[in-house]
Amino acid sequence: MSDEEAKLKARIERDKDIPWVDLREEARGIATWAQTNGEQLTDAALEILGEANRVKEKLDADSRKITAIVVGKNASKHTKTLIHHGADVVYVIEDDRLDDYQTLIYTRAILDALEEIKPEIMIFTASTLGRDLAPRVAAILSVGLSADCTEFDVGYYANKRKNQRFAKAFKMIRPSFGESKLATIIGPWTYPQMATARPGVFRSLKADKTRQGEVIQFSPNWSEDDFKIEVLETTRSADTIDLSKVEIIISGGFGVGKEGFTLLQELVDAINDNDQKAELGASRAAVDAGFIPYKYQVGQTGKTVRPQIYLAVGISGAIQHQAGMKESQTIIAINNDPSANIWDLADYGMVADYQEAIPALIDEVKAGYKFPLQ
Ligand code: FAD
Repeated sequence: MSDEEAKLKARIERDKDIPWVDLREEARGIATWAQTNGEQLTDAALEILGEANRVKEKLDADSRKITAIVVGKNASKHTKTLIHHGADVVYVIEDDRLDDYQTLIYTRAILDALEEIKPEIMIFTASTLGRDLAPRVAAILSVGLSADCTEFDVGYYANKRKNQRFAKAFKMIRPSFGESKLATIIGPWTYPQMATARPGVFRSLKADKTRQGEVIQFSPNWSEDDFKIEVLETTRSADTIDLSKVEIIISGGFGVGKEGFTLLQELVDAINDNDQKAELGASRAAVDAGFIPYKYQVGQTGKTVRPQIYLAVGISGAIQHQAGMKESQTIIAINNDPSANIWDLADYGMVADYQEAIPALIDEVKAGYKFPLQ
């Protein structure tokens, strides 16, 4: 028996006078919202399916079904991808009027689907649209919502005040107190237990093209009122970057100053010229100082990234920065302070002035050096 199992056994024994309860009634299984961006399924839609598959193993056998809900004009074209990535059932809500996301229309669609699916757990992506949609759905259903979760678990929970204990409460875990602590939020009193999941944090499953699933074409009970907003034009900002697809992120901090970013950009260009995919990243202090635009910021209030190589240059490694990059496969630091927090995370590094280290690295890359990628 592992230490953890022994501790749990002791807790269960300690709480033995508290009655077990199960308030799920008919609620079973996990539902996820498969977000699309225009015609594309988002990466986050597959990430939450991957996580749902890990979580389901801890649920009762009759609750291990995962249903993805996809809404959109051509929603049915995503069914195979969703099934290959872990959905057992796909609810397709397709309508020519669903060109763009609209709060009222999507809220009604998800509510009606949930009424039929009756899941024990419902997970949305904590994207801009998910942050709009999930709270409305939760408020109308009068259930709780844990926002921006970075971990999920299922397990034992005892509440002495209510004199109740649950064998399989959904544990929604998210950073709090400026990312310095992890809070575990539970709510096994109302169903579905609902959460949004931070994009970029969870891993999607490898596509299994042999996987089979059920597809249900679903028609919500929309009323004319749901369609009372007319979208005249949608303009997508061209000023965005997708750091989720790059292999190597060269991230600069306050320590490199504005001129340092010119050097880091030179390194990024040299790597790209060498047929590896690199992009700049930055700490908030560098962004706040105006060295680089916000779209490059990594961390709690920026992007969550997981590149193969994350090179942190002149970044101290504050906990809020770590929140966005600690899952990178290999972390390399260049910092002139041997006691900086970044060394707690770094797999490799140099205690050095970036002005010496980076030009030397640029020369190596220009001479043909390639970063070791898998
Ligand atoms: P500093 O902490 O100033 O570190 C600079 C580093 O550069 C130092 O370690 C120094 O030794 C090194 N250095 C200096 N000169 C050189 C040189 N010549 N060569 C090599 N190294 C050198 N931060 C984020 O990054 N992302 C976020 O999303 C984020 N969100 C936040 C949210 C909240 C609610 C709060 C409270 C804070 C948040 N922060 C975030 C800020 C965070 O706490 C830190 O202040 C920030 O990450 C520090 O950035 P930095 O490491 O670049 O700067």
